[in-house]
Amino acid sequence: MASSIAQLAQDLRARKASATELTQAALARARARDDLNAFITLDAGAALAAAQRADATITAGDVQPLAGIPFVHKDIFCTNGIRTTCASRMLENFVPPYDAAVVERLDAAHAVSIGKANMDEFAMGSSNENSHFGAVKNPWDATRVPGGSSGGSAAAVAAGIVPFATGTDTGGSIRQPAAFCGITGIKPTYGRVSRYGMIAYASSLDCGGVLARSAADCAQVLGAMAGHDARDATSVDRPREDYVAALSTTLQGLKIGIAREYFGAGVEPGVAAAVRAALAQCEKLGATLVDVSLPNAALAIPAYYVIAPAEASSNLARYDGVRYGHRCGDPKTLEDLYTRSRGEGFGVEVKRRILVGTYALSAGYYDAYYLRAQRARRVIANDFVEAFGHVDLIAGPTSPTVAFKLGEKTSDPLAMYAADVNTVAVNLAGLPAISIPAGFSEDLPVGLQLIAPAFHESRLLAAAHQFQLATDWHTRSPRA
Ligand code: GLN
Repeated sequence: MASSIAQLAQDLRARKASATELTQAALARARARDDLNAFITLDAGAALAAAQRADATITAGDVQPLAGIPFVHKDIFCTNGIRTTCASRMLENFVPPYDAAVVERLDAAHAVSIGKANMDEFAMGSSNENSHFGAVKNPWDATRVPGGSSGGSAAAVAAGIVPFATGTDTGGSIRQPAAFCGITGIKPTYGRVSRYGMIAYASSLDCGGVLARSAADCAQVLGAMAGHDARDATSVDRPREDYVAALSTTLQGLKIGIAREYFGAGVEPGVAAAVRAALAQCEKLGATLVDVSLPNAALAIPAYYVIAPAEASSNLARYDGVRYGHRCGDPKTLEDLYTRSRGEGFGVEVKRRILVGTYALSAGYYDAYYLRAQRARRVIANDFVEAFGHVDLIAGPTSPTVAFKLGEKTSDPLAMYAADVNTVAVNLAGLPAISIPAGFSEDLPVGLQLIAPAFHESRLLAAAHQFQLATDWHTRSPRA
C-alpha cells in the first residue's frame, strides 16, 4: 500500500526523503499514468519551486503535518499564475490573478501542488465525461467512469499518484467518485471550508473538501483547509475541531441509523450486501445499529435538479465574452458576441443546466418550480433533524451502483442524475458526510456513506478511522 500522509511526513522529517524527491516521484507517476487523463495541467516548475520551499522549512524545523506532501487541486480552485479551466472551453486559457482560500491555506501548510485535476465541466456531472479535456478513466477498470465531478482527483489518488487531492461537492462530487475509485472522501458542513476563489456552480450547495486514501489522511488535510474566511459571506465563524485528535474516539456506544430509503429500488444487490457487511463490522466494534427513515428522500433528486441549475444559470451569466473567458472571433453585434461566445464556450450539459435553471426562475414558472423545490429542500432537511434526534450518524450506500461503463449514461441525462440519489439530500441540508471503502461488488469498489449533524466532521472521521483500523478495504489498490 502507498504510504499514509503521516508516514510520508515522518520520512521527510527523518530525511529519508525530501519534498523535492517526493514531488519528482509524483510528477513521474502522473506522466506514467497519462492513460487515465486525470490531469488538465501539470506544472512541474511551480511544483518543484514549492517543494524547495517546503524542504527549506522542514530543514528549519517546520513540523506542519502537510509540509512537503505532494497533492493535486481540482481545476475548480483558482491558482494565481496557473491556468484554471473548470474543465470548460470557456476558461481554457484563464490564468487567475489570485489564489482561492483553499489554495492559500494548503500553500501556507507547505503542501506541494503538482497541478490541476480533470473534472466535469463546471462540476456538472457524475461521471467526469463532461470535461472539455476528455473523460477520466477509472484506475480499477479503464472501461469505466471514475465518478464525477471530482473524477480526476479521485483517479489520481486511487492510482497512487498523490496521497490526497482537493475536490468540491455540490451534490455528491467528492463522495461518489471516492466510492467509485475505492478511496475516502469527505464533504464537510456547508460553510466550513471557504468558497473564496472556488469557481461557483450552485452557491448554496458548493462545498470544498478532500479525497484521500484514509480517514486519518482526510483529517490531516481538512484540518489545514477548514476555517473562517471573511471573504466568503457564508463561511462560518466557529472554531474548527481538532480532527486528528478526535480520531481515537471509538465506536463504542455510537448509534448508527440505517436509512431505509437509501437501500431502495435501483441499489445493486452487491452494493447493498457490501454496505450491510460493513455496518455489521461497525456493530462488532461497539456501534448500535437502528433503522431510521428519511420519508422525503425521494424529493431530493427533483429538488436538487431545480435548485442547482437555477443557481448555475445565475452564476454562469458572468461568462459573456466581455470580461474574461472565451470570446468568439469577429463579433458583428453585441448580441452576436454574447450568443456565439457562450454557444462556443459551454458544453452540452452546461447548456442544458442553464436552460433548465433559467426556465425554473422565469416569471411564470418561479412558484411552480423554484419555490416548490425550496419547500422540498426544507422538508428534506427536517427529515435529518428528526432522525438525528435518535441517532449519531446515518448510513447507507454512497452510490446505488458500482462504477458504470464509459458512455453508458451519456445519452440519458435522467439516468445520470439518478446516480446522485443517495448524495444530493446531504447538500440540500448542508450536512457533512464521508464515503469510505466498504468492500467490492463485481471486483469494483463499493462506498459506505456516513452522514453527521452539522459541524460534526470529527464524529464522521473518527467512526471512519475506527472502521479502517479494523478493516483493510481502504488499503486495496488497483493494479497499475
Ligand atoms: N452530479 C451532480 C451534478 O451533476 C453533483 C455534482 C457536484 O457535486 N458538483 O450536479
